[in-house]
Amino acid sequence: MHEMSIALSIIDAVTAKAEEEKAGKVTGIELEVGRISGVQSESLRFCLPVAAKNTVAEGADLAIRETEPAGKCEECGRRFPMDGFFARCEFCGSLDISIVSGRELLIKSITLE
Ligand SMILES: [Zn+2]
Repeated sequence: MHEMSIALSIIDAVTAKAEEEKAGKVTGIELEVGRISGVQSESLRFCLPVAAKNTVAEGADLAIRETEPAGKCEECGRRFPMDGFFARCEFCGSLDISIVSGRELLIKSITLE
């Protein structure tokens, strides 16, 4: 499963950070998942506790926030919400759009003990 390998790499990063901070336990993990990142937050919610088993992050509270996709028009510079990968500028009709958010998968914060 795609999400399981992502969950494992998140837990890797989290446990590395805990080690660096000499923390004995990770009690909370806060993630930000873009709605068009290709990662299902529901699957992550299921996979993360499994990936965290027998690590310092076992039993940590998970907070997953989904971020809405947004695009920026390269013609007129305005930003607007997007509902998929393909969008047209709402203001000038340009198709030259960059995705500025919605594809991210970020560890926003971790709580250490
Ligand atoms: Zn525009």
